[in-house]
Amino acid sequence: MTRQATHPQTSCAEPEPSSTLRVTAAREAIQAGIEPIQTIERLALRDALGRVLAQQIISPLDVPGHTNSAMDGYAIKGEDLQSSAITNFKLIGTTVAGQPFDGQCQSGECIRIMTGAPMPDGTDTVIMQEQAKLDEKQMVSFTSQHKQGQNVRHAGEDIAKGSSVLEPGRRLTAADLGVMASLGFGEVSVRRKPRVAFFSTGDELRGIGEPLREGDVYDSNRYSLYGMLKSCGVELLDMGVIKDDPDALRQAFQAAAEEADMVISSGGVSVGEADYTKNILQQLGEIHFWKIAMKPGRPLAFGELGETRFFGLPGNPVAVMVTFYQFVLPAIHYLATGKPYRPFTLSAVCDDAIRKRPGRYEFIRGVFTTGEDGELTVKSVGQQGSGILTSMSRGNCFILLPESCAGVNEGERVTIQPFSSLSLV
Ligand code: AMP
Ligand code: MG
Repeated sequence: MTRQATHPQTSCAEPEPSSTLRVTAAREAIQAGIEPIQTIERLALRDALGRVLAQQIISPLDVPGHTNSAMDGYAIKGEDLQSSAITNFKLIGTTVAGQPFDGQCQSGECIRIMTGAPMPDGTDTVIMQEQAKLDEKQMVSFTSQHKQGQNVRHAGEDIAKGSSVLEPGRRLTAADLGVMASLGFGEVSVRRKPRVAFFSTGDELRGIGEPLREGDVYDSNRYSLYGMLKSCGVELLDMGVIKDDPDALRQAFQAAAEEADMVISSGGVSVGEADYTKNILQQLGEIHFWKIAMKPGRPLAFGELGETRFFGLPGNPVAVMVTFYQFVLPAIHYLATGKPYRPFTLSAVCDDAIRKRPGRYEFIRGVFTTGEDGELTVKSVGQQGSGILTSMSRGNCFILLPESCAGVNEGERVTIQPFSSLSLV
């Protein structure tokens, strides 16, 4: 069932030491180690919002179901427009949406028609009311030029009966719910939501409300992880703070793996602590400890605890968020949909000079804005330390500086990844 995560080699052109892994190589290795969820459930249409479709939606109907008017106006036989003998049309009735006209329209006649009303038999053209004059003898004349067939919406023009409307693997949007409702679907099949367990590790971590002793910090990672996971549409299992104690850690990893498809811990994978966590994890599963050529967020552990996928994220609050967005979010997307994640990026003019040496991928927190000239520009938020979490809340995007980038001059174009795109629901 499960596939092993491999440990790909970095290229020899890579200036970082050979034990480090490039960002894209890590993403590929993670995807190769994940088996997408196959379990399906049936849900009422509204409950399926944000869920991953597990069936093809084939239209049982034509939409629109009948050829109808796109305007309020007068329906006529289009050929009459060619006849110089007909200058006035006799008004013989009215039709509105939901009340079809019962009768036939003959040459030289017209029918008052409202938007959405089915085209009466004998008609194929609508003249909008602003271009028509009705006299007291119920005769209608038309101003300006008209074309046969104008202002008519044809049956099946939006969706043809029997055609495929939505494909499996798609995350359902508000518009999708509307489309499925328009086809009469009351229930749909979706994939089960991934279950994700997460916890923080560290003796120095305190919960909110607890007193802080010297050297203690409040556990913030569980809150940012909570927020990021919420916007991934997964089921959450918050396992709290675990002490840097072998038995407590072993128990936490085991309990989490029993409950969840994915386990995420933060802290305990930096050089000073990795050996410690490594020993415990190696007894429980197959875990790789990677050094990734990136900043922030260099250490990362990934692997398997039985059927469960495990991410050991670094403890630094910014590194947690960056590694989550760059590795965990694509992994959750693949787990949930079976489709590779494609990051959403934009090009922007950088208003700052940014110093950087080639060799590692940097994720600079920036603020992008659209200037009065419509040009997208971006500025660094300033301080970029991996403990400066306010850089994530002040920023609205990552400025992506790949391994080969040797710095950015003011006015140069850069690629940005908006934070608002880093959501799966
Ligand atoms: P570690 O990766 O465990 O060595 O932690 C690196 C840094 O991140 C240390 O300064 C930790 O105190 C801090 N840190 C680790 N976990 C958390 C957390 N859950 N909340 C806030 N800071 C943390
Ligand atoms: Mg620690």
